[in-house]
Amino acid sequence: MNSKIWLSSPHMGGNERKYVTEAFDSNWVAPLGPNVNGLETDIASYLDDDIHVAALSSGTAALHLALILLGVEEGDEVICQSMTFSASANPIRYQRATPVFVDSETDTWNMDPAFLEEAIKDRMAKGKKPKAIIPVHLYGMPAKMKEILAIAGTYEIPVVEDAAEALGSSINGKKCGTFGEMAVLSFNGNKIITTSGGGAVVSTNEDLVKQATFLATQARDPAPHYQHSHIGYNYRMSNICAGIGRGQMEVLPERVNQRRANFSFYKEAFKDIEGISFVEEPEGFFSNRWLTTVLVDPTKTGGVTREDIRLALEKENIESRPLWKPMHLQPVFAGFPFYGERVAESLFENGLCLPSGSNLSEEDLGRVVDCVKKVMRDGG
Ligand SMILES: *Cc1c(COP(=O)(O)O)cnc(C)c1O
Repeated sequence: MNSKIWLSSPHMGGNERKYVTEAFDSNWVAPLGPNVNGLETDIASYLDDDIHVAALSSGTAALHLALILLGVEEGDEVICQSMTFSASANPIRYQRATPVFVDSETDTWNMDPAFLEEAIKDRMAKGKKPKAIIPVHLYGMPAKMKEILAIAGTYEIPVVEDAAEALGSSINGKKCGTFGEMAVLSFNGNKIITTSGGGAVVSTNEDLVKQATFLATQARDPAPHYQHSHIGYNYRMSNICAGIGRGQMEVLPERVNQRRANFSFYKEAFKDIEGISFVEEPEGFFSNRWLTTVLVDPTKTGGVTREDIRLALEKENIESRPLWKPMHLQPVFAGFPFYGERVAESLFENGLCLPSGSNLSEEDLGRVVDCVKKVMRDGG
């Protein structure tokens, strides 16, 4: 059996061990410490001068805290991109609020500004102004933030950017994670860099980030004894994990280049194949190409479907995956409002994520390409 090729696996840079060893040597084996502070500074200086960061236990925790800080409560409504990972929407339900899902557009596969506005108008006509808007930069491709922010501004609704997949992406040089009132990052094991598990909430508003840190450390009031006037959470990142993150931040620009090189490799390899297409960067958009994704059009491939390709890859011990199944089609979110058509649904039906790790060799990529080309030749 050929060795396993993963969709996206951790890729250490080298200095992670140094930071983790420092944590052990100084006995900072705790959910705070110098690596946590260091990682927060590293991320802030990478993103922008006036950004503040709270390192947390996960991207999901970061989104939960962001919604709490925007005052999302039981009975409120929060607009969320439908095509995404469930972690974008789950924290809305942690607060017993109602998710309102919005379809994608075809340029970036992210939140469609026109359907966003339609959703806001209709929810307001029905008596409720949404409390927040959650666009997602899927697979590293930035959402149309200019249009989304303009609409959010008109109706004065704060934006929480889900930048979990988009660290290193930007629009006209402005980094993803710096557009919204707040943004969340993820350092889960499959993301472009990892702390083995972790996340962060970021904002230009220092006070919001301070409050996030406060809530994440059990909401302990300043007092010699344990005094609490808020419900708190245990959402802080450990100093060990943050040590891994510090090493990873050193190689982030390299990781972006490697992921983008994977995309170019696939694009070049499939350029003569009818029916396989890629999502391109609109002008000024820069994607970290966290995952390379393709659309397979069976009417042009002679009947070969996304699923034929996925199963053929699986037989060769190569992991690939359909695109995210939209939230409005998920059993757990059935019955919540949805604004749009069938864009996300058809992307889900025909889209496939190809192996995209920054640690893949040319030989690995070659195996993927050969397998896909063989299915195309032999038919589905
Ligand atoms: C990974 C991911 C999250 C959640 O991050 P965790 O750190 O795994 O909790 C949220 N949203 C999107 C779009 C993601 O891909």
